[in-house]
Parts: sequence; structure tokens; C-alpha cells
Amino acid sequence: MTHIADHDVAGGALPASVRDDFPIFATRPGAYLDNAATTHKPRQVLDAIVGYYSSANSNVGRGYHTLGRLSTDLYEEARACVAQALHVAKPEEVVFTAGTTDSVNLVVDGLGRRLVGPGDAVLVTGMEHNSNLLPWRRLAEETGARLLVAPTDGRGRVDREAFAALLGPRVKLVAISHVSNVLGTVNPVRELIADAHGNGVPALVDGAQAIPHHPVDVQALDADFYCFSAHKIYGPMGTGVLYGRSDLLADLRPTRVGGGTVKGVSATEPVRYVPVPHRLEAGTPNVAGAIGLAAALRYVDGLGRAAVRAHDEDLVRFAVRRLSGLPRVRVVGAPEENPSGIVSFVVDGIHPYDVGGHLDQHDVAVRAGVHCASTFLDTLDLVGTVRLSFGVYNTRDDVDAVARALRTVRPGFW
Ligand code: PLP
Repeated sequence: MTHIADHDVAGGALPASVRDDFPIFATRPGAYLDNAATTHKPRQVLDAIVGYYSSANSNVGRGYHTLGRLSTDLYEEARACVAQALHVAKPEEVVFTAGTTDSVNLVVDGLGRRLVGPGDAVLVTGMEHNSNLLPWRRLAEETGARLLVAPTDGRGRVDREAFAALLGPRVKLVAISHVSNVLGTVNPVRELIADAHGNGVPALVDGAQAIPHHPVDVQALDADFYCFSAHKIYGPMGTGVLYGRSDLLADLRPTRVGGGTVKGVSATEPVRYVPVPHRLEAGTPNVAGAIGLAAALRYVDGLGRAAVRAHDEDLVRFAVRRLSGLPRVRVVGAPEENPSGIVSFVVDGIHPYDVGGHLDQHDVAVRAGVHCASTFLDTLDLVGTVRLSFGVYNTRDDVDAVARALRTVRPGFW
């Protein structure tokens, strides 16, 4: 059981008219199936960003004037919107960052370096994206700690028993992805977090690929940290979120200090910092990004989380059926078990790059290769996969376009 399945849904897929919300399709038609890399932005998000700069633009938390207060209010409203979306107890537990990568690095450098010492260990899963792997790996290398990797099975699922067995007194932190960006596998994060807590250590969840497809409730998951990026859920690039339990956030040493983080500075007295989250947001924040993210979350809510989920399920199941009927095509993992908008496949005898290039010539955009997770691909014994990743504007026609193009794919340069 995963927590996100608890929110399960009844209702129908999304109407094709959703596509009209996305201006990019007016000039860039074709099947865009690279949503796990980044999603397109609906007019509602673009309007929110332009509207902010056109009618409220001012620095936040500083200005003793109307625009400054308006800007600050909009920024804090965006935080409250994120808090609501993640079911966070207090908006102060939401820190705006530059994205998932930035959020993970903030925890690694601000807390990891204090909790982890020589001979200690950090436990991750075998399916991590480099953004939730390399910061921990570097931490281990620099502190003399070990990076323990919980193995995955042949279908890319975390082996829970092996995960639990790796937990021990030297493990000081656990970092796990909610949904694999390679195969769309949903990890049993609530259970893995419970295992971490049973061992007395905090758990960070990389939610980059969960947030666009599943409702997330950080309290029900009992997550200590939860990270995601706005651009994966129809929001702007360069904006993201770190949710952190307030006692842990309070312990997190800011990796950057500067304007907006202090109550007072004098040449002689110790610096007095403001509380979190602002203590962790040094400098002028990406206010328009936060407002764009809030607009994106409202947009998805407006479509209905249940409808988004039904849409994902329909497209994933349809894609698995269509691909399975094609010669030499093999779906990797078990994407239909708990669909997360991702279907990875290989074409026997043809390098994924050649397949990706061929699809591009047929106006189908996919990602091909190792998806920033080469160690995971190594364990699957694959040089890479071709990944279809769906968004709210995709339709079965997009899947049909893939299937049509695959009928003529041939080995090429690679
Ligand atoms: N984690 C996962 C699972 C991802 O899929 C990605 C992006 O593809 C990231 C982390 C990194 O996200 P960002 O580049 O927005 O920081």
C-alpha cells in the first residue's frame, strides 16, 4: 500500500479541450510526451506571472509601501497555497527553493553535514535521480560516511526487506524518491518512512515525479522533508519547494545568508536571524515563480485531482497495450501497477537514442537515455530506455502517433 493510492478516485479522463489552455500548442503542435522532464505552462500560469509583474511587482518583506505589502501578501498566499496542496500543518514549514535539486542540497548541506560523521551512513534507494543521489554521495565522500543503496527488483521496485535490513544504528538519514522518473514506479514511501522512524532517523522524500500525478499528504506520509519542482506540475522553471517538519527546519543551518534573513545586524553583536522559512530564503526570492506555482496548483485542482489520476491511468494502460502489440518493443517495469504518467520501453536491437531521434522526426517528443539515473539503468542491465511521460493535455492520439512511428524504426548511428 502506498499512501497516494489511498486517495483513489472514481472519475473520468480529462477533455481534449484542456490542450487549448496551453498556448505552446498553437505554434508547436505534435505529441509532447516529455512531461517528466518538464511540463508546458497553461495560460492561467502565464497570466499569473505576467499579472504579478504588471500590477504588483515590488520586493517582499522589506517595502514600507503599498506595492511592497501587496507583493509580500501574494508571496505568502502562494506559500499558503502550497501548504494546502501538501496538507502541511503550518505554512511556515514550506520553504521556497529553486527546485527539487536545490531543496535536496539545502537539507544535505544544512542538516546532513551536522548529522552524519565518519563511519555513519545515509540510506537511499537504487532508483534515485542524480539530484537525490549525488548530494548524498558527495556528503558521504566528504565526511567519511557510507552511502547505502537499497536494491530494486527486476521490475524496478524497492526491495522493502533489504531496505529495512540496511537500516541500522549508523544510518543517520534516509532519502527516497516517491515516484521513479525512469519507470514511474511508486515507492511505498509511508512504510519506508515508518522504517526510518523505527530506526530513529528522519526521511527526505523526493516528490518531483509524484506531485503532478498524485495527491500528496505529507502528514499522512509522516515525511520529515518533501521536495518538488514547480515546472513538473505546469508551473515555472527555477521554483521549487522544500517542506520540512518545523523542528527539523529550525535546526537546519542556512547554506546561504544575506538580506531578508536577519532581525538585526551590528558590527559587534551576534547576528540575530529571523525564524524559518524566511531564514532559509536569503536574498530576493523568486516571487513570480511562487505565484506561478500557486496558479499551477490551482489549475490542477480545477481540473480535479481525481480526473487527472483517471487520465493518467487511462493513458498509461493504453500505452502499455499499444506498445505490447508491437514487434521487438518491451515495456520496462510495471507502469500499470499504480500509474504515474510514465511508461518506459526498449526496442530490442535499436539504441534508445535512435528510437528517440526517429520519434522526433515524426513530431513525437520523448526522452531517451538514462534519465539522470544511470546507476539505476545499470542495475536494470539497460543502456537506456525510451520514456513516454504524460501530462494533462495528452490524448490517446499521442500514443497512437508513437505506435505508428515505431513501425518504421530502424537501427541507426548508435
Ligand atoms: N528528482 C526526480 C525524481 C526528477 O525526476 C527530477 C527531474 O527530472 C529531479 C529530482 C530534479 O528536478 P529539478 O531539475 O527540477 O531540480
